[in-house]
Amino acid sequence: MPPLTPLILKLALDTPLDVEFDYRWQPKSADDPPPCIGQLALVPFGRREVVGLIVAVQESSVYAPEKIRDVTEIRHQLPPLLSHWVALSRFAADYYQRPLGEVVVPCLPKNLRALKATALNAALKKTEAPPLAANTTASKGPDLNAEQQAAVGAISAANEYGVTLLFGVTGSGKTEVYLRSAEKILDREQRQGTLAQVLILVPEINLTPQLENSIRARFPGLSIVSLHSQLPEGERTRSWLSAHLGYASIVLGTRLAVLASMPNLKLIIVDEEHDPSYKQQEGLRYSARDLAIWRARDLNIPVVIGSATPSMESWHHAESGRYKKRVLAQRAATQAVLPTISLIDMERIKTTEGLSPPLIDALRTRLARGEQSLLFLNRRGYAPVVHCDACGWISHCQRCTAFMVLHKPERRLRCHHCSLELKIPWSCPTCGNVNLQPLGRGTQRIEEHFHVLFPEARVLRIDADSTRKKGSAQAAFETVHRGEVDILLGTQMVAKGHDFQRLTLVGVINPDTALFSHDYRAGERLFAQLMQVAGRAGRAGQLSQSEVLVQTRYTQHPLYRALIAHDFPGFAAATLEERSSAGLPPFVFQALLRAESKTLNMALEFLQHARELLPHPGIVINEPVPMTMTRVAGVERAQLLLESPARGALQHFLKRWVQELRKQPTRIRWTLEVDPIDI
Ligand code: ADP
Ligand code: ZN
Ligand code: ZN
Repeated sequence: MPPLTPLILKLALDTPLDVEFDYRWQPKSADDPPPCIGQLALVPFGRREVVGLIVAVQESSVYAPEKIRDVTEIRHQLPPLLSHWVALSRFAADYYQRPLGEVVVPCLPKNLRALKATALNAALKKTEAPPLAANTTASKGPDLNAEQQAAVGAISAANEYGVTLLFGVTGSGKTEVYLRSAEKILDREQRQGTLAQVLILVPEINLTPQLENSIRARFPGLSIVSLHSQLPEGERTRSWLSAHLGYASIVLGTRLAVLASMPNLKLIIVDEEHDPSYKQQEGLRYSARDLAIWRARDLNIPVVIGSATPSMESWHHAESGRYKKRVLAQRAATQAVLPTISLIDMERIKTTEGLSPPLIDALRTRLARGEQSLLFLNRRGYAPVVHCDACGWISHCQRCTAFMVLHKPERRLRCHHCSLELKIPWSCPTCGNVNLQPLGRGTQRIEEHFHVLFPEARVLRIDADSTRKKGSAQAAFETVHRGEVDILLGTQMVAKGHDFQRLTLVGVINPDTALFSHDYRAGERLFAQLMQVAGRAGRAGQLSQSEVLVQTRYTQHPLYRALIAHDFPGFAAATLEERSSAGLPPFVFQALLRAESKTLNMALEFLQHARELLPHPGIVINEPVPMTMTRVAGVERAQLLLESPARGALQHFLKRWVQELRKQPTRIRWTLEVDPIDI
């Protein structure tokens, strides 16, 4: 019998080293199935064992045979990840400058990466195949209006790559367009005898239950799974496997779902494409929207990105013709009209506890009519600082460039940036004055005042503090949907996506700080947020005309002028004009190197050194500067901004630069972010 020849497998492992590791696979018999790309394998690594992904199978290695260790086990029971999926991961790793192993391994559910195969086997057993005669026929939804029909027609007719920007005002029925397009594409593929899958991305976990229920009701015959970070591990594994095995026809998920393995993917939908939560802010700092578009192009399938306030990047591409724009200009539900938006001039009006008389009157009217109101204040806690009138002491955090926020119900001062918590001091720590004052107001303070103003009203506050317990956010939103709340009050958590049926008033207090932010995206974000929150009002139609009242000191500011006119295109045109003349994205491409250290000087010196490491024609590397919030939890932070009008040139430079940076002997912690959204 001839000796069985071994193979060399290259594996991506979850390590910070940007290399693929060679292992030897020795067949035990002639009919031992050979390993292939995309399979998982258990291998020795140092003194441990780890699970990695096979990314290449070769006959030989450049390393000496005695240096190469043997594979422990191949996970044959799991069908391999397809080459398109590996390509997507490789692109993400390259583009965001991380090792491939740090992309492909952590995105697998834990049970698949477990050292013992039993977890995987058990999960496979529990993952149910869909019924054989799967029925794509959907239960009937509302009759589409002309705009919706045109959008669905265009999206579902496409059999190839193309980005559709669905620009639809709040309540215009974008969801209906997503569902009908999905239905048509699933239907078409079924008639052709091919399997099909649809991926729907949403920004928030809190929004998945409502959408998931409507999808399930619409497609009773299909297997639908959701994927997000708060799923219990077992369920997440089953969802992942169901997508990977092609059982799930629809996968609904948050940003991490963009990396789900879906062998029959035929359509991708990204709802609220402008939302900052599509950007992962640690580890692999990817944009799920951008990866979704890359993935669609690689697979040559259509992708739909939807929003009432698209990102400047997407709007720019739509204007230049790279993306196709589809407009839904009207609200969809019968008689539902957009709310009127008015400004309350805070320069001229006296307030009580931050609330103006017109806003209080409007709230009172809603209470009398039995309609719901929403009050939006993007600041949690009772007051952002505590202050001593006598000596000027102010509640700074000892560890951060930030104030300690007063949390009255919890009787604590809390820093929102590190975990520091203190009891509220009885008296001023410097002068002993017992009369410390809260300055400014957060959601808790408004809530307290509402109880005084409207003792009979049912007030509910929803923010990160009131929803700490798992599942409590969803429970809170359900109370609102059941109509058991008169006044809902909260931070951006209440602004997004919810389809509240009895809500006719939205009040916005204190939005002005964003107008003067150092972050060039603050205006774009504020506009989107205000449009979103305004969009929660008047969605049903049978109630009275709904209104949005915005308290501001800058009634003439162009952003507010565009807002009251519901004029997103005007706002976007002006913003893009500014960006173009200031040389900002989307007209240039950026990357940000951040350094953290015990002293600010060490961080700045490291960045200065990094700046001079390589010649960089065509790339501007700015001076290193301290970050706006310089200190967090006792760590000093600085950053270096790179810019280039050419994405390719920037990518090319970053690749070489990161290799050099990795070689630098330094104890500074650094991270690189490509296309940063917070600068
Ligand atoms: P968007 O996502 O654009 O904000 P939704 O998809 O939530 O809007 O739709 C808003 C409301 O309009 C929902 O209650 C939905 O059921 C309803 N709706 C959607 N399309 C139609 C239609 N063609 N006719 C009647 N009602 C519709
Ligand atoms: Zn004092
Ligand atoms: Zn702190």
